[in-house]
Amino acid sequence: MSESNQNGAQMQNGAGAQVSKGGTEDTLHEVIVIGSGPAGWTAGLYAARANLEPLLITGDDFGGQVSITYEVENYPGFPEGLSGPDLVEKFKAQAERFGCTTSYDHVTEIVVDEHPFTVRTSQDKEYRTKSLILCTGARPRFLEVPGEQEYTGKGVSYCATCDGFFFRGKELVVVGGGDSALEEGLFLTKFATNVKVIHRRDELRASKILQDRALANDQIEFVWNAVVTSINGNENGVVSGVNTRDTLTGEQGELATDGVFVYIGHIPNNDLYHGKLDLDEDGHLIADPMTRTNIPGVFAAGEIADKVFKQVATSVGQGCAAAMQAEKFLASLEAVGLPDLNEDPRAWPTPGVPKQTADLVAAD
Ligand SMILES: Cc1cc2nc3c(=O)[nH]c(=O)nc-3n(C[C@H](O)[C@H](O)[C@H](O)COP(=O)(O)OP(=O)(O)OC[C@H]3O[C@@H](n4cnc5c(N)ncnc54)[C@H](O)[C@@H]3O)c2cc1C
Repeated sequence: MSESNQNGAQMQNGAGAQVSKGGTEDTLHEVIVIGSGPAGWTAGLYAARANLEPLLITGDDFGGQVSITYEVENYPGFPEGLSGPDLVEKFKAQAERFGCTTSYDHVTEIVVDEHPFTVRTSQDKEYRTKSLILCTGARPRFLEVPGEQEYTGKGVSYCATCDGFFFRGKELVVVGGGDSALEEGLFLTKFATNVKVIHRRDELRASKILQDRALANDQIEFVWNAVVTSINGNENGVVSGVNTRDTLTGEQGELATDGVFVYIGHIPNNDLYHGKLDLDEDGHLIADPMTRTNIPGVFAAGEIADKVFKQVATSVGQGCAAAMQAEKFLASLEAVGLPDLNEDPRAWPTPGVPKQTADLVAAD
């Protein structure tokens, strides 16, 4: 069985069609949410509570990046912290409690140039929907060296905001030479006594201002022309050091460290969107602060559209906003009909209000 909903097998969708538990092809959904990270579950929760009976398609990485997070300590409401997988289970249970249906499937194609939109999946399902909330997130680029997986959450991290706090008074390594590596390296100097930035070249890709700040910070040292070849641990099962290789001479080296923060790139999960939706130069969906993409009725939330904050709390907030916007879109669809799909909704005149709703307000 690939779909679940705590409310039972048969559900009535907004269009009045009978929806079987297996998700029949002729169902017209009000909203489909793609992705099961924090943004997706929150969009599912809010859409469910708005009686839109959302279908959430999880993707191959159930729970998204949180599911590989050992301990989440900065998500409000959980003062003791909790494991990433536990948080995902809570997100899911809450969304399903209000009628969100979960489909354990992966989307292979979306068609957004005609309405209703079409969603095709790897289990050969085809869904039609009046609105879409895209929450396909991103993934950190991994070093792919021995020890990385083993020590993730035990000294290896991809998020200084999340984990820097645990390294008060410690010595750290940051891997990378771009803006994120330097920004996070600077942030880590609030906790760590020393941060060594290991970079594969002898010049940085980061912006000049960040370079100046990092180079002027006496807690930061640079290890130039070096790559990490393995991450090592001690008898307590936590990181104790890294092995390195000089990219020019091939010379092997070793550095003792208490933690390794990896910033060698962040990859948006955007395979579905090329040639269909506006993407920025890094491949993130371009959505406005109202979570609108360039197609009316298609919204984006979480890290697929956010390359700045990249947190559970911000992704949750954006998922909430996207569902509220989808609800507005559906209301105006019912009241005044389909907008021109070629017209970019981000250019609509009333900030925060879909054009049709604005027209309705004006007519009152
Ligand atoms: C190791 C690690 C530790 C972290 N620790 C913290 C922390 O302590 N606190 C914190 O606030 N943040 C932390 N973060 C960041 C946080 O996890 C992310 O900001 C957050 O998960 C982003 O949520 P999201 O919903 O946008 O996407 P993601 O979590 O990236 O989820 C994306 C979802 O989209 C799905 N998907 C992708 N493509 C498709 C497709 N074609 N069809 C269907 N589904 C698809 C995936 O299966 C996945 O479920 C951490 C990140 C990492 C990597």
